[in-house]
Amino acid sequence: MKLSLVVPCYNEEGNIAEMNKAIEKAFSGCGFDYEIVFVNDGSTDNTYKALCEVYNNSTQNIKVVNFSRNFGKESAIFAGLKESCGDITAIIDADLQQRPEIVLEMVRILDEDSETDCVTAYQETRKEGAVSRFFKNGFYKIINKFSDTEFVKNASDFRAMRREMVDAVLDMEEYFRFSKGIFSWVGFNTKYIPYTAEKRFSGETKWSFGKLFKYALDGIISFTTLPLKLATGVGLITSMLSIIYLIVVVIQKLFFKIDVPGYATIVVLVLLLGGIQLLCLGIVGEYIGKTYMETKKRPIYIAKKILDYKDKNRIDRS
Ligand code: UDP
Ligand code: MG
Repeated sequence: MKLSLVVPCYNEEGNIAEMNKAIEKAFSGCGFDYEIVFVNDGSTDNTYKALCEVYNNSTQNIKVVNFSRNFGKESAIFAGLKESCGDITAIIDADLQQRPEIVLEMVRILDEDSETDCVTAYQETRKEGAVSRFFKNGFYKIINKFSDTEFVKNASDFRAMRREMVDAVLDMEEYFRFSKGIFSWVGFNTKYIPYTAEKRFSGETKWSFGKLFKYALDGIISFTTLPLKLATGVGLITSMLSIIYLIVVVIQKLFFKIDVPGYATIVVLVLLLGGIQLLCLGIVGEYIGKTYMETKKRPIYIAKKILDYKDKNRIDRS
């Protein structure tokens, strides 16, 4: 198999048939064989029904992995990569924001240049508000400064990778998956090509501002120990300041006989230090919580059913 297309789907009932058609249109006459691995990430609408329909009726090689519940896009990507068998595997969204024709371009680049292991598409121009741009810029600045892994701005999961890279990604079996980081952590030569995201064909984005914010924090916790260092830094600075203040108070009392008026200062300091301590405890807690979940070694996803085109073509001789 030359190419596998991994398509994570969560509540995409209106997009499946159209996506299947778009892939067929882009790849008809491409001259090589390919398969599509749809992953139904516990959709609550009729996505699975739509997937069964294309599986039964389409002439393309289609595999459908049906999750037992919603595990998130990262888990869906992991399952898709695991179930794919192409020499090259591409990841593409189900909502037609990313055109399948671009995958053809990625394959062409990989065919022409044996030194390149991965082609990633990034959005050159993004239509987004000033607030979200501010937070995104902040995220990339922080994570690139404090992590050894390089994070390329606006690079998406929309990419095509050679088998060796896919296997390396699959070897990373961490429970809290942050693909942006994992894809760069494994190394390999990556080429970046610009693309413009189309409008969503049907349905709505699953990423609210709150969800994105949490995702960014998870990424920072997964790939840097910056928050822990911050906690140490804040602790050091407050300790130093309080020692200086202590010396000032003692000198005032002993040499100048100045009584330091106490109540307000004490209340403010107690509250401030209490707050800082709780914050630092929370940061440590985040890391301990993540470590705790990782030690449980729970599966990244549970598939309750897998429909495989290979079974469909198999002739039962019994
Ligand atoms: N997705 C998924 N599981 C989730 C959320 C999203 O598999 O829990 C899929 C979704 O069906 C789509 C892709 O991830 O194919 C990207 O999602 P979306 O279009 O909502 O994100 P955006 O394009 O707005 O970043
Ligand atoms: Mg989308």
